[in-house]
Amino acid sequence: MEFKNVTVAGSGVLGSQIAYQVSYKGFNVTVYDINAEAVEAAKTRMEKWQQRYKEDLNASDAEVKGAFERISFSIDLKEAVKDADLIIEAVPEKEEIKLDFYKKLAEVAPEKTIFASNSSTMLPSQFAEATGRPSQFLMLHFANEIWKNNTAEIMKHEGTDMKVFEDVVSFAKQIGMVALPIYKEQPGYILNSLLVPFLDAAQDLLVNEIADAETIDKTWMVATGAPKGPFATLDVIGIRTPYNLSAAHAEAGDKKAEKVASFLKEEYLDKGKFGIESGEGFYKY
Ligand code: NAD
Repeated sequence: MEFKNVTVAGSGVLGSQIAYQVSYKGFNVTVYDINAEAVEAAKTRMEKWQQRYKEDLNASDAEVKGAFERISFSIDLKEAVKDADLIIEAVPEKEEIKLDFYKKLAEVAPEKTIFASNSSTMLPSQFAEATGRPSQFLMLHFANEIWKNNTAEIMKHEGTDMKVFEDVVSFAKQIGMVALPIYKEQPGYILNSLLVPFLDAAQDLLVNEIADAETIDKTWMVATGAPKGPFATLDVIGIRTPYNLSAAHAEAGDKKAEKVASFLKEEYLDKGKFGIESGEGFYKY
């Protein structure tokens, strides 16, 4: 099935980027959010994206304005989804909010509509029942700064129809993404299944004083040809995120994580070193 009309639900950091990119690639886009304030915030975000498309992609004034002007906005869910071939859900990362959203959506969406979630940490089986159409539901996960970090992880659950899965893979390509099909549900998709253990191993080496951050990075880069090592990567992500992850594991009784969390807090966060965003993390910028 060829999609023409796409509705993006939730127009925060990611939803506003998804809506803008899909419109930029020529699809009819409707944005749904809960109130006028949220819609205004999305429009302001999209002004920023227009600037970034010009800087990063060399897009013309007419192209970036056209993409914005073609998007329609609605705070009425029924109205927002009435013609949708595909709905991309980017509402907050809270299970109860998403469950409630899918229950309401199931009542008003046309039968043909396919539902896709952009959730980073949840699994499709958590919502499949609530959608009322498990065979037409799957994950379509984008990365922040979608126009240049253009991965789309498309993940099935057991009940997703293979044809629906293939249609969404092909849609992801049409909107300029590198489509990454994932055939079974997996927490963290592919990227975080690889990255999180890799970054954890690097942090363990550092807090146990096996080697310093620069040497660990150098080892990885020289040996594999990778452009960045784990600590330079952590600086890009921002040190709050690995801290939050370790702190959560520490709270669940993980002693190794406790050591990492207090190290990150004392040596970095308490000193205002958050990574690239603050000018210093494991490296200075
Ligand atoms: P956000 O908080 O920036 O935006 C959420 C938006 O949803 C807001 O505009 C809010 O008004 C709206 N919203 C709240 N309740 C709603 C409801 N019931 N119905 C419709 N809209 C509602 O969040 P975000 O960072 O854009 O994250 C959204 C989703 O995208 C999450 O599932 C997250 O895991 C995923 N994601 C985020 C990133 C990231 O870097 N921020 C990256 C990949 C995936």
